[in-house]
Amino acid sequence: PTRRSSDLLVLVLLRDITEARRVEAMRADFVAFASHELKTPLASLSGFIDTLRGHAKDDPEAREKFLTIMADQALRMRRLIEDLLSLSRIELREHVRPSDPVDLLGVVSDVADGLTPVAEQSGVEIGMTAPAGLSKVLGDRDELAQVVQNLADNAIRYGRSGKRIEISLEPAEKSGRPFIRLTVRDYGPGIAKEHLPRLTERFYRVDAAASRARGGTGLGLAIVKHIVNRHQGSLQIESELGRGSAFSVLLPVAPDPSGRR
Ligand code: ADP
Repeated sequence: PTRRSSDLLVLVLLRDITEARRVEAMRADFVAFASHELKTPLASLSGFIDTLRGHAKDDPEAREKFLTIMADQALRMRRLIEDLLSLSRIELREHVRPSDPVDLLGVVSDVADGLTPVAEQSGVEIGMTAPAGLSKVLGDRDELAQVVQNLADNAIRYGRSGKRIEISLEPAEKSGRPFIRLTVRDYGPGIAKEHLPRLTERFYRVDAAASRARGGTGLGLAIVKHIVNRHQGSLQIESELGRGSAFSVLLPVAPDPSGRR
């Protein structure tokens, strides 16, 4: 039979690019934020260089003072760049599941040891609790150390008025599968409810000036969130104003090599 023009078939292809657009916009925002965060210490450095070349040239006392501030600003830029690099490294691997059995208690002990000087300086005691014979988790040791480090850093940084922080490990379960729950708790000022859902966004801070003054980059919890996602775990934040905060991470238990759980 001959085909009539009314039989003409038209194929319409519709593609929803909302998500792609959203990701693009987020990326542009992120670059703008990161540049802005770097610009401030850079401007301060340039300003002091001019001052040192100019009227502070022959004033050793002023020079010393300015050099201290400059070293601080340079450190801030370095921290920011390190956090940006770590974030992009983790993002690249986000869809590759880590596969090593990791002794989380060993990780926590190492991080706590490393933090002892900072804790002492801040007048904070670090407590640790874990039951004997805890299973290993499936993970990437360095990334898990970073999770513990970032959470404990924050607990000391923002919760120092509570005088102590606690890092605990315990067995847990989710959808019938075994997990380990890592909790970092502080007894500081806590965080108002409206901020909780946004804390893991890049550069989101409750108080930007307080964060910067304490050496924060605004990326610590974003890094934690990415690492936890890569481990197919979950992050939960609980906080009450005046009482402190608890950040809990669930991590999957590594399969027993003997085939049993
Ligand atoms: P930062 O580098 O600013 O610490 P983070 O991503 O680690 O960035 O944390 C984001 C913000 O969450 C912080 O600026 C701070 O306002 C808040 N925050 C994080 N941990 C705590 C805590 N333990 N107690 C109170 N506020 C916290």
